[in-house]
Amino acid sequence: MRHIAILGATGSIGVSTLDVVMRHPDRLRVFALSAHSRMEALAAQALACDAPVVVVPDAPARERFEAAWPAGRPLPEIRVGAQALADTAADPGCDTVMAAIVGAAGLPSAFAAARAGKRLLLANKEALVAAGGLFMQAVRDSGGELLPIDSEHNAIFQCLPSSGAARAPAEPARGVRRLLLTASGGPFRTRTLESLAGVTPAEACAHPNWSMGRKISVDSATMLNKGLEVIEAHWLFAMPADRLAVVVHPQSVVHSLVEYDDGSVLAQLGQPDMRTPIAYGLGFPERIAAGVSPLELARIGRLDFEEPDLVRFPCLGLAWDALRLGQWACIALNAANEIAVEAFLEGRLGFTDIAPVIAGTLERATGATGVPGSLEDVLGADVAARETARALAAHRRVA
Ligand code: NDP
Ligand code: MG
Repeated sequence: MRHIAILGATGSIGVSTLDVVMRHPDRLRVFALSAHSRMEALAAQALACDAPVVVVPDAPARERFEAAWPAGRPLPEIRVGAQALADTAADPGCDTVMAAIVGAAGLPSAFAAARAGKRLLLANKEALVAAGGLFMQAVRDSGGELLPIDSEHNAIFQCLPSSGAARAPAEPARGVRRLLLTASGGPFRTRTLESLAGVTPAEACAHPNWSMGRKISVDSATMLNKGLEVIEAHWLFAMPADRLAVVVHPQSVVHSLVEYDDGSVLAQLGQPDMRTPIAYGLGFPERIAAGVSPLELARIGRLDFEEPDLVRFPCLGLAWDALRLGQWACIALNAANEIAVEAFLEGRLGFTDIAPVIAGTLERATGATGVPGSLEDVLGADVAARETARALAAHRRVA
């Protein structure tokens, strides 16, 4: 029996995770659920799966959770605050942690799970982008397991030579030439650069293939999401930047590919439904049902591939720059993007101003040398880059 903590349970990945878990009462059980603002949804989830523990951000959230809880049912243990979140990720009551909080806010708890030697199902890509080297070292030191949940990385993991284990590699797998990440191209794949200036948050969040949280939906629209994923792949598979490539594939059926020295290219295909990679991570090394409908290739008909356009999607190029510049630049890239996307979603920044805010933050942040030595170093650089990005976003704010 696996005992699972779902961090970010009320989000898109969290809901899909709970769906898969509840299909397997014989082998999967919830230990803890966390949420940030949606306390009514959290209460409904905790009731449905009989969660022994919930984690909420503060005292008012606790009150809202209690108010949403039906009279006569025993309350779960309610833990409060960011430290409780990290402690729960490391709690002996769970062996498996789904890291599905969005943004760098999820870094300390994901890191705590890595250090505690858990099976870590990593959806939160921002954690790896910001703390890549430290993060992978923490998994190696603790002897924990790391299973990528991001669909591209899960696909690559499935296509790499299997050792039957999910350890954090320190060097590229033997015989592998390149990793090819597919990108849908997002909702604006065919739009002209000029037409992108006035797009609204609703348009940016209307992804053609995937249903996701708002932040990652905007990231997909700018294609920074793919840039974050290139950095994520660099760390997860110990792969140098020049052996990573992105190919646009509008149907989102081929989730990514591994190219071998002998010319073979292996791909993983499936529906664009995150329950497939989630079930893979929960069941590994076995395969378990995910509730996903079969892939009907004849109905899909064709699979297209094209080169990414770095002129219309400058954020993707900025991510390649950051990867080559090093870890400090990756922290700044991620922090600036979180600030810019938040400003865009709140109507304070234009869509085409997201890239300049990131570029400006990168320019001002690349002075540091060496690599971050601790989680505190990472979080300090993250805070500093956010301040820079906030000032740049305010300067460019839409009328
Ligand atoms: P959502 O926005 O749907 O959900 C985010 C979750 O995190 C919610 O449970 C939210 O709580 C919680 N949360 C938000 N802010 C904080 C905070 N400051 N502290 C603690 N918890 C917080 O995001 P997604 O599920 O779409 O994405 C989650 C992660 O997975 C992201 O890193 C994303 O990049 C990655 N990912 C997502 C994919 C997808 O298909 N959705 C695919 C691949 C990767 P509440 O809702 O209660 O406020
Ligand atoms: Mg992805």
